Amino acid sequence: MFLKGRTAIVTGSTSGIGLAYARALAAEGAAVVINGLGDAQAIEAIRAELGDGARYDAADMTRPDEIAAMVARTLAATGSVDIVVNNAGIQHVAPIAEFPVERYDAVIAIIMSSAWHLIRAALPHMRAQGWGRIISTGSAHSLVASPNKSAYVMAKHAIAGLTKTVALECATDGVTCNVVSPGYVWTPLVESQIPDTMRARGLTREQVMNDVLLAAQPTKRFVTPEEVAALAVFLCREEARSITGANLAVDGGWTAA
Ligand code: NAD
Repeated sequence: MFLKGRTAIVTGSTSGIGLAYARALAAEGAAVVINGLGDAQAIEAIRAELGDGARYDAADMTRPDEIAAMVARTLAATGSVDIVVNNAGIQHVAPIAEFPVERYDAVIAIIMSSAWHLIRAALPHMRAQGWGRIISTGSAHSLVASPNKSAYVMAKHAIAGLTKTVALECATDGVTCNVVSPGYVWTPLVESQIPDTMRARGLTREQVMNDVLLAAQPTKRFVTPEEVAALAVFLCREEARSITGANLAVDGGWTAA
């Protein structure tokens, strides 16, 4: 329970990898602020599962004002924001010439700009208290590209650059800033892109799973959300205080190839 007394905001934690972060941080005693879309009853069940200190904040990651307000609400409720995890994300798969502008704007806002706004709002508090952990969910696509994912690859590469910059800006402040970059993790986000990839490439579901998704992952199995969350928890430990500005792959060897 080394995170007892710490407050963690995890964006996009009503599902998938974000929910695994929330569970893993709460298991170490953190008061977790969950965030994301979803059915109110299901969200309340998650909040209750995470214990008395857990809160839900409905901030929309496309809205800078709501992101800043989430930090202010968290400070008012708990007195601190010690850990922020930029994790909310969406995907859209299409060749760039056919990519809907509205989908491009949404991917960039939810993955890329939201991280900038959340860090901007939370960092002054972390700095003042001399301790903080900023973690973002990158992706193998923060390091390498795949066709038909121009907005996503762009946003994830930007997250890696933002991380390096913030790490340098707060290097002597007791605050670390890192990216955790998974390969393919079996979550609703991956499941939902299968139909688009089937259409874009003219493939069957099995072909998308084996020949597209796991084609680049040498271990030939999906990463689990819990494996990703375990690394994030480690980054919150005192032993991890010298790890900053790093982009840590959890990708079954994808980016080693
Ligand atoms: P998911 O669809 O299960 O979860 C996405 C979360 O983001 C949900 O909680 C959703 O409600 C939230 N969200 C979406 N739009 C939002 C908005 N406007 N405001 C607030 N929250 C919003 O997907 P996941 O696979 O768990 O993805 C989580 C992160 O991991 C994303 O950044 C994704 O790019 C990244 N990632 C996923 C994989 C993978 O294979 N699943 C691989 C690498 C990186």
